[in-house]
Amino acid sequence: MTTTPPETTESTNSESNEDHSPVEMAVDQLERAAELLDVDQGMFERLKHPTTVYRVSLPVERDDGQTEVFTGYRAQHDDVRGPYKGGIRYAPGVTEDECIALSMWMTWKCAVMDLPFGGAKGGIVVDPDELTEKERERLTRRFAESLQGAIGPTKDIPAPDMGTDEQTMAWLMDACSMQEGETIPGVVTGKPTAIGGCPGREEAPGRGVAIIAREAAAYYDMPMDELSVAVQGYGSVGANAARLLDSWGANIVAVSDVNGAIYDPSGLQTMDIPTYDEQPGAVTAYDGGEIMPNAELLELDVDVLIPAAVGNVLTRENAADVSASLIVEGANGPTTTGAAEIFDQRNLPVIPDILANAGGVTVSYFEWLQHINRRSWPLERVRETLEDEMVDAWEQVARERDERELTWRDATYVVALSRVAEAKDLRGLWP
Ligand code: GLU
Repeated sequence: MTTTPPETTESTNSESNEDHSPVEMAVDQLERAAELLDVDQGMFERLKHPTTVYRVSLPVERDDGQTEVFTGYRAQHDDVRGPYKGGIRYAPGVTEDECIALSMWMTWKCAVMDLPFGGAKGGIVVDPDELTEKERERLTRRFAESLQGAIGPTKDIPAPDMGTDEQTMAWLMDACSMQEGETIPGVVTGKPTAIGGCPGREEAPGRGVAIIAREAAAYYDMPMDELSVAVQGYGSVGANAARLLDSWGANIVAVSDVNGAIYDPSGLQTMDIPTYDEQPGAVTAYDGGEIMPNAELLELDVDVLIPAAVGNVLTRENAADVSASLIVEGANGPTTTGAAEIFDQRNLPVIPDILANAGGVTVSYFEWLQHINRRSWPLERVRETLEDEMVDAWEQVARERDERELTWRDATYVVALSRVAEAKDLRGLWP
């Protein structure tokens, strides 16, 4: 076994983008789609700006009695098709700019899946691992209090994202419910099932990535049982995608976490590798395979590369060295604008995040429906409906791509933007 010192590529969207800020990147993508669709300037202007951005100060008492003030954001991009929807992340690198960009991506993600939601994203500038559970709870409840009136089942519905989980959603829901004096399960999705969560919500983003990777591989005539796959990130998205593709016969040759990657060309036993939730940072402790830096995983000669950790890992610097035949974006925004240009020149297909990782918000929608109908769905129904919705969205994007001869990203944006622009046109601009 070779041991190379592990290297971390885990950073946030805002830290490592060499050429554009996240918002500039999101606006560039919107502009391309607007040109392709011949959307008028006024519509482009309206969609370029988030509707509302909340910035809140969150004083929290630490367990030692000291008071610390954290900063939180909630960016609401657009709600023309339904309530704002999107995750809340806890990470040290959270910025207002990042939340705005991510809220725009949520608008497109919901539209490409044809969900009756708009886009939002929030976050708190904090390393959640540096807080105790009680401190995280106080911080979360304070955030819910600060967003009172802004979030709600028909206004804006948060969900888990980086650094948050179903327990975070349970606290948020409880705080909102206590303030309103009644239980409001629909104020968040991604809750524990005991309080109205949907079975299969946790695995859904990874399951969606696996379904899209399978469809994309089939599109390029790559048989599943010969497919070699490298997955960066072994958290909820990466691990679930890797394990599912493995169970469908693909050969998962490399996976990684914050401490580094492991590589075995003959295939890894993905079920034996602890996920980030099961044992944080334990990927490199797996017995077998070669340990390599995270950055090298991105350049492995594989059929499919799935970046499923953080944003901006595929950059102008490493794009020429990426040797995969197909990239499926599990993370939000893993490809910088510079890298995307190089991949386009190289004709390297990249299936964009807003389609590939839309499984999470799709099952969030199922959860929200269950709240409205007061009726829960069994896991099998969730999985089958997710499968149908992901394949449907894939087929619509593939049709658009083939008819207009577009890149996957452009085709996905065209599908999403045409729906949002049509809704805006029909509703009009008032007053
Ligand atoms: N945070 C997830 C995403 O980026 C899920 C959002 C949701 O379920 O609302 O898609």
